[in-house]
Amino acid sequence: MKILLTTLHAKYVHSSLALPYLAAACGVMEGIETVIREFTVNERHELLLKKIAAEKADITAFSCYIWNIEQTLKLASDLKKILPNTCVILGGPEVSCNPEEILQNHGAVDCVISGEGEEPFSKLVSAWKQYGNFTDAVKSAGQGIAFRDGTSVIVNPPAGPVRDLDSIPSPFSAGLVDMGKPLVYYETSRGCPFSCAFCMSSLGSGVNSFSMERIRQDLLYLMDHGAATVKLVDRTFNYDADRANTIWEFILRHNRTSRFHFEIASDLLTEKNLEILGKVPKGMFRFEIGVQSGEVATLEKVARKSNLDRLFRNVGKLLSGTGVIVHLDLVAGLPGEDYNGFLASLQRLLDAMPLFIQVEPLKVLKGSPMESIAAREGYAFSSHPPYKILHTPDLPFHDISRVETVSGLLDVFFNSGRFHTLLRAVAELEPLSGFFHCLAIHAEKEDNTAGMSLRGSFEMLWEFIRGYYSEKAAESLSGALSYDFCLCEYPVSGNLPDFFRSGEIIRPKITTGEIIKSLGIDRGSKVRCFALRFPQDYTCDPWRKDTTDILFVYISAPGKGLQVKPISLAGKTAS
Ligand code: SF4
Repeated sequence: MKILLTTLHAKYVHSSLALPYLAAACGVMEGIETVIREFTVNERHELLLKKIAAEKADITAFSCYIWNIEQTLKLASDLKKILPNTCVILGGPEVSCNPEEILQNHGAVDCVISGEGEEPFSKLVSAWKQYGNFTDAVKSAGQGIAFRDGTSVIVNPPAGPVRDLDSIPSPFSAGLVDMGKPLVYYETSRGCPFSCAFCMSSLGSGVNSFSMERIRQDLLYLMDHGAATVKLVDRTFNYDADRANTIWEFILRHNRTSRFHFEIASDLLTEKNLEILGKVPKGMFRFEIGVQSGEVATLEKVARKSNLDRLFRNVGKLLSGTGVIVHLDLVAGLPGEDYNGFLASLQRLLDAMPLFIQVEPLKVLKGSPMESIAAREGYAFSSHPPYKILHTPDLPFHDISRVETVSGLLDVFFNSGRFHTLLRAVAELEPLSGFFHCLAIHAEKEDNTAGMSLRGSFEMLWEFIRGYYSEKAAESLSGALSYDFCLCEYPVSGNLPDFFRSGEIIRPKITTGEIIKSLGIDRGSKVRCFALRFPQDYTCDPWRKDTTDILFVYISAPGKGLQVKPISLAGKTAS
């Protein structure tokens, strides 16, 4: 018997954790071959169908999420027409809460697994092996299994959490995880101690952890095999501060090259946590921290327990006292928050100056408590994945569209890290949330944010600045914008952007040979220089408010990309 475990990822870089766990749970059974095939939603339907059908599996099991459910159902339907004898099984968060609806509306689906899949799936496979047919196997499988019996749909209660997580063999040491992917997913625990109404993790009952021995064994495997980035999917990694310390210290002792991405609650961080995190080399850890709203009353309405003051205080400590990369999340459209409330929340995030800010309109996920809040408060949301809100009593549709424009602009102008100097200069003039709001209005009028080139994004920003600020303010911002541009690419004389007009190109007294020597640049690197006069010295912190000549050294070497070193030339130039 052949089992195909498959899924469609949102992007190529992603890899599945669920499928290797299912394969590991089935273990080695005589006469059973398990195959994992991972695809992306960007591949053509016909090609996906061809590849999946070519496996000629007896069981084709799909892992379903909001980003792939529509394509998966279409694939299942066509697959069944090509291979009528393959048994199509769906599992995952997108089908767990509505197995009856799925089976009633999609005749190609034979079985839906709800909840944690390892136990029901492995029981179903061994029952099939025992009975030799799907009909008897599925009837005997019990919890977590829903199936069609003639014209009826039988739904057993969902599978509970796997009580002893260590009982699932490690998919890592079994060699079931594709270690070549840029992102390798991993979990040390399942479930969340919190109950935020908009989140599916609120439906579980607490947290269940793997043993520390098992965690050490899996982490060692990941680090020894050179995983590029390990993304932990634990819902609140630091729910237990001591446990988090033990794991972080273990990683610090054994890691060589891997990077780790954790989702944490920063208001739960202790002084001891921060002390250990102070030893993390720059960039080795990245923390994704959900703020969701800066308004306490809004968080209370969705049962989100969060101490915002402590959260932001600890974000400040992470940024100033550790090398951890901080990523903050915000959700727009939670109860009681209108567009101005959203901007106020965004401002709190911008004030913290993390490296990344992610903003998303609320999604009303199937089966989440948010469904009843939405019904009670009169929310309208799309019936199709990802179930995004369309309007709420506080946020009309055009404001939700504006939030999405702001979100896109944050990606281009904040998260890219290419406009730090400009944004810092703007922050001296006005709150950045107001700047992004007005930039969004400009971008919507121009309809020109999609697919902008690097130079195009600089020019779009300059066009906005010229129309929005006084001539004097725009002139001073042009210096900051030119500085950011020089850090991104070598400015070609004769083709300089318009905003360079306030800066005078200067000729440094220092020669390229001296620069190569003083910076210890490798022989074989290509070195180019460009120097410009700026209204202030942006190379120091705080900025020195005096006219300063800055030299940019552009170093390129095969396989290393472009490196740019800015050097203040106070007193070392001739105009
Ligand atoms: S949003 Fe985060 S903290 Fe809240 S229930 Fe979900 S995973 Fe837990």
